[in-house]
Amino acid sequence: MSEIRPRRDVRRTLPPQKRIALIAHDGKKDEMLDWAGRWQATLARHQLVGTGTTATRIARQLGLEVEPLMSGPLGGDQQIGARIAEQGLDLLIFFWDPFSPQPHDPDVKALLRLAALWNIPVACNPASADFLISSPWLDQDYEMTIPDAKAWVSTRNN
Ligand code: PGA
Repeated sequence: MSEIRPRRDVRRTLPPQKRIALIAHDGKKDEMLDWAGRWQATLARHQLVGTGTTATRIARQLGLEVEPLMSGPLGGDQQIGARIAEQGLDLLIFFWDPFSPQPHDPDVKALLRLAALWNIPVACNPASADFLISSPWLDQDYEMTIPDAKAWVSTRNN
């Protein structure tokens, strides 16, 4: 069986202005709005993107600028996953609902897999999001390690 891991890692620097994705399942949207309201001034210093309904509600109710992607069940989680793979995203705040099966559960799993693979900081509830957003690295460069995609290609070709 061929090796299925990249052979080496490379360095990536997250910039002081972070690109932050916000996603909340329906049962968690009020919690997300409450959390984003508490961190409104902090969030306003960064670039925000979100799945359709989450982004629209945060923008409308809090006046934050949030780029809306597709709604989650229509592909929004996959769009955010694509940004992670392209190194177009720095942090993921994803309040997924542990009590509700979702029609797009495979997309949710795929998104969380990519976040783990690409070493993206992820918060899944208000407490973890509080810790993440209050990190001293939020407004600074942050040096991290990610898989070397070129090494992966060469591994597959050997
Ligand atoms: P929504 O998608 O923000 O469009 O509701 C979130 C999700 O269910 O993944």
